[in-house]
Amino acid sequence: MKKHAIIPIFIPHRGCGHACVFCNQNAITARQPDVTPADVRRILDTWLSTMQQRDLETIEAAFYGGSFTGLPMEEQAAFLAVLKEYKDDGRIDKIHLSTRPDYISIPILDQLKQYGTDVIELGVQSFDPEVLRASRRGHTVDDIYQACELIQNFGFELGIQLMIGLPLDSREKCIASAQKTVSIGPSLARLYPTVVLNDTELARMYARGAYHPLSTEEAVSITKDMYRILDDAGITILRVGLKSTDLISDNTSDSGSSSTSDSTSSSTSDSAVLGHSYHPAFRQLVEGEIAREDLERELMQLLTDRAAAPPPSTVTFTCCGESFSNMIGHSGCNKKYFAAKYPMLSIRYAVDSALPRNIYRVAPASDRQDR
Ligand code: SF4
Repeated sequence: MKKHAIIPIFIPHRGCGHACVFCNQNAITARQPDVTPADVRRILDTWLSTMQQRDLETIEAAFYGGSFTGLPMEEQAAFLAVLKEYKDDGRIDKIHLSTRPDYISIPILDQLKQYGTDVIELGVQSFDPEVLRASRRGHTVDDIYQACELIQNFGFELGIQLMIGLPLDSREKCIASAQKTVSIGPSLARLYPTVVLNDTELARMYARGAYHPLSTEEAVSITKDMYRILDDAGITILRVGLKSTDLISDNTSDSGSSSTSDSTSSSTSDSAVLGHSYHPAFRQLVEGEIAREDLERELMQLLTDRAAAPPPSTVTFTCCGESFSNMIGHSGCNKKYFAAKYPMLSIRYAVDSALPRNIYRVAPASDRQDR
C-alpha cells in the first residue's frame, strides 16, 4: 500500500512570544542553534535521499516546533521559498506548518498562499476560555474561530490540535472542544493528553500541588470520547498522544510534540515525564477501548437477539488486518476482558480484509480462518 510521509523541520519556539504552562520549548531553544534556510535544504535532501526507494504516494514537508507565522514575514518567506522550490520541481507534494490562532492574518495567509502552502494546523488546545487562561495560552476563543474561518476561506487544509487535561479542564470541556471542532469542519485533528515535562511551569504547578494530572485511564476515557466525535464527523485524526521518540530523542519525528501542538516538536533527553497520563502506546489504548465498546455492543445484540435463540456458545470477532491489534487490545487486554466477563462463550478472533479500518463485527462462529 502506498504511504504518506512527512519530513519534519523542527524550529523550536521560533516565532513564539508566549510561555504556555505545558511548553518546554523555551528550554530547548536555549540549547539549540537557530535553523536557517540552508539547514532546511540540508534536512530535505537528507530525508529525500532515504525515501527514494520507498513507495510513497505523497511527501509533505512540515515546520514544527514553534509558531511559524509568528516569524518575521521575510524570514517566513525565506523558509517557504526553499520548500516551494522542492514542491515546484516535484520533490515534495505538500507544504505543512503549525502555528497559533492569534498569528493568522490576511497578509500572512496571502504570503503562505503565494509560496504554495497546503496545510495549516492550529494549536487550539481548548475552546474553553478558563482553560486557555489557566494554561497561559495568550489567545481567546474568538481568535480560534476567526483564524479557522480565514484559513478555510483562503482554501488551505485546516488542522486543529486539542489537548486533554490542561489546568481547569474537565471531561465536559474536552467533549465540548471536540464538538466545536466538528462545527468548524477541519480536515485534520490531533489529540494530545497533557504531559508534565521538566522545565515547564506545569511541572512547578505539579510540584506544589496546584495541578493534578489525569491518570492514564482518565486520559484514555476522555480522549476516546473525543476521538469518536471527530472520527464520526469524517475528520482524519493524525495523531493521538505522544510517541516515546517525542520524549527521549532530539530527533524530530513525523509530527511529534513534546508538550503541545502548535509547538509540535520533539524534545530532549532530559525532558522527563513527571505526570501520569503519558503512555507510549496511547493511540492503541484509545482505539482498543473503542474496539472493546463496539464489540461488546455487537455481542450484546447477538446474545439478546430472539431470532438467534438459543444464544450461540461460540462467536467470532472480526475486523480488518490493520485493526486487529486494536481488537485484541494493548497487551491482549480486550481478549482478557471478554474471557473474564463472558466465561460461557468461546470467542475466536478473525481477520476480514473486506471490513474498513476500525469496524468490528460479531457473529456466531463460522468455519472462517481464526487466530
Ligand atoms: S506551546 Fe506553542 S504557543 Fe505555547 S509557548 Fe510553546 S511554542 Fe509558544
